[in-house]
Order: sequence, then structure tokens, then C-alpha cells
Amino acid sequence: QSGHEQAARIPRYVRVNTLKCSTEEAITAFTSRGFSLESSLDTGKGLAIDEHIPNLLSFAPQTTFHDDPYYTTGKVILQDKASCFPAVVLAPPANDDSFVIDATAAPGNKTSHLSALMQNKGKLYAFERDKKRFLTLTAMISKAGCKNVEPINLDFLSVNPLDTKYAKVSHILLDPSCSGSGIVNRLDHLLGAEAENDIDQEKRLHKLATFQLMMIKHAMQFPGVQKIVYSTCSIHATENEHVVRDSLNSDEAKRGRFLLAPEGEVLPKWRRRGIPDEMDSPTAAASLIRCSPGEDATNGFFVSCFMRTSQKRGLSP
Ligand code: SAM
Repeated sequence: QSGHEQAARIPRYVRVNTLKCSTEEAITAFTSRGFSLESSLDTGKGLAIDEHIPNLLSFAPQTTFHDDPYYTTGKVILQDKASCFPAVVLAPPANDDSFVIDATAAPGNKTSHLSALMQNKGKLYAFERDKKRFLTLTAMISKAGCKNVEPINLDFLSVNPLDTKYAKVSHILLDPSCSGSGIVNRLDHLLGAEAENDIDQEKRLHKLATFQLMMIKHAMQFPGVQKIVYSTCSIHATENEHVVRDSLNSDEAKRGRFLLAPEGEVLPKWRRRGIPDEMDSPTAAASLIRCSPGEDATNGFFVSCFMRTSQKRGLSP
């Protein structure tokens, strides 16, 4: 099955932006336009409520929303199901004393999701190092009605974890640049590239993995941080399980007492977990999430969750 064929079978996911609209209101609006909770998505008129992610709706793959008033006014956000997992797993608290970092924020889908989960309370620092993408991020935040977000055009690695400004940060989301190999309509290119040039591909993945590990180790140095979610839209263990394993074995993890959150705290209802052979124990693999392009009605995706804990609660690599 080609990447385009797989993409054609992924439902169109629509996340209701609860900062501007309730799920009930969105369903009523879509129903008045001819969509129905009773119809199957295959008919093109179906609308379904997602079973894993709150406030996520799905429609037939070819449904378009670009001119829909709910989309143009930021009441709903077009976001693949798998890419909604990280914010839900991070589960930032919704109170005035909640301090959160989105370390790699643009274009801002996960930033606006985090802001919604925080109910616009507390403070969400959203870093983006690329100037142009930073502008996209600020536009997205404003369209989505996020009032608790402070966008910052900086390289996260240049931020001093000991800066008193970030002393109360307890949750960090890390969704750094990756190979993007899980995005299904890019799979064709990937397969071509792999067939042509395995060595360059390996080198590129290792370079990305080195950067991703550096980002996690940096996040672990924020003194107040309790929970770090690391995610990618890659299908390669080099950027996923291996980066997590190396992070757990790092001095930063040992000093900070970071372990993997147990399976029961990481979307336990989601069946596809990390690859056991790529981790040091099956239990550790079970606390990781994978989405397989084509098989899970999503793009390929990976999510892990580190937490600062006593040795008894979390999992070793
Ligand atoms: N989380 C975003 C979302 O859901 O919309 C997507 C993030 S994208 C995969 C990664 C982003 O991180 C890119 O915009 C990239 O420019 C930015 N980035 C990469 N390295 C960074 C760094 N060291 N500091 C800040 N931003 C970085």
C-alpha cells in the first residue's frame, strides 16, 4: 500500500478547541450541515466521537474544512489523532499556579491543545527557534484564543534551566524536529530514499537522535519539572525507543531521578506500545506508545513520558 493510499484511508480528525467552543456546540453545528453521528464515515456524511481523545471528532478522509466557519474562527483545529496524544499524556494542571513549557512549539497545534487543557490558566511558555515558524505560532495562538501562552523566539537549548523565570515549571512537552517518517503521504519518498541511500539515511537518523537526546537531557535540568513528554512523528526506533533508552541511562536522568511513567498512566487503553526488542525490558516498552501508519487510522507516531519519581514508582530502562 502506498503512502498516498494509506493517507486516503485516515479519517479527517477535528479537535474541538474548548477555549472557544464546546463539543456539544460543534456537533450541533456539524449536524445542521448534514453530518450525522448515526451515519458511517464511509458514506461521507458520518461524524464520530473519538474513543481515546476527549473533544476529538472524526469525519470521512476526504472531508474538507478549510472554508468552514468553525475552522476559520479557531473553534475547531485540524489535527491528526496521534498528534493529540502528547498533550493528553502530559495532562498539565488547570490552575493559576500551573507552569508549563512547550519546547518546540510551531506551528502550535500542541501548544493550543495544552492551553485548552490548562483552561487558559497559569502560564505556558512556547519556544520556537525558527523566526518564520515563530510567526505562524503567534498567529495560531491568537486564532485559537490562547491567553495563557507566552511565545518565545529562542532555541530551547539556549534557555538556562536555572533561570528563576522557569523555577515553577512542572511539565515540559518536547516534540522536536524528527525525520517525519511516520507521516503517511511522505512514506513514498522515504521508501525511495531508503532504497537509494541507506548509509545517508542512517547518518541522518543518528544526527537527529543526538539532537533529540540533547533536548530531553536539557529538559531534565529544570529543577521543578515533574513530567516530560517526548514525542516524534517518526517510525524509526533510532529516534524513538533508542533515544528514550539513552535518556534513561543519562547522568541527567539519574541525578533528577527520572524514570518512565508506568503503562497505566500513559493512555492505557491504546493497544500499540513500544517495541520490546528495542528497549531493555518489556515493561519499559509497554509504557511507550506507538501508532502505526495505515494500521491505526493515524499517521505513524511515538510518545514517551518521563517522570521524576522515587525508584519504587517508575520503570527503569
Ligand atoms: N509541536 C508542534 C505542533 O504540534 O504544532 C510541532 C513541532 S515540529 C515537529 C518541531 C519544531 O521545533 C519546529 O518548528 C522547529 O523549528 C522547532 N525546533 C527545533 N529545534 C528547536 C530548538 N532547539 N528550540 C526551539 N525550537 C526548536
